[in-house]
Amino acid sequence: MRKIEHIGIAVRDLGASSALFEKLLGTPSYKEEEVGSEGVRTSFFKAGPNKVELLEATGPESPIARFIAKRGEGIHHIAFEVGDIHAEVARLKKEGFEVLNEQPRKGADNKLVVFVHPKSCNGVLIELCQEAP
Ligand code: ZN
Repeated sequence: MRKIEHIGIAVRDLGASSALFEKLLGTPSYKEEEVGSEGVRTSFFKAGPNKVELLEATGPESPIARFIAKRGEGIHHIAFEVGDIHAEVARLKKEGFEVLNEQPRKGADNKLVVFVHPKSCNGVLIELCQEAP
């Protein structure tokens, strides 16, 4: 894995949280995007070479809505950039990690993404991401 690409934060109100993170980071969001397949609206910020992704649920069935109902707002996942997502999935499976979707999906920010179950990683949801071709 190359680096932490972004940290995903579950929020209740994307507008209010975007304004808050704009103040915190001293820079406006560079992209807002809805990913229907994941049930999220996202807002991205740059912090040097890394990014912060704010995630708001699009409905009560969204994984973000369920996360907030259970744990409240807060850090939802850590995303690592990888060079070859298929090779990383194979490697992690061999190491005994539970991969949630073996077939990479199209995520936000033009990325192919795979998630690793939090129970494999001390309670932290891990996202692997690779720039989509
Ligand atoms: Zn993410």
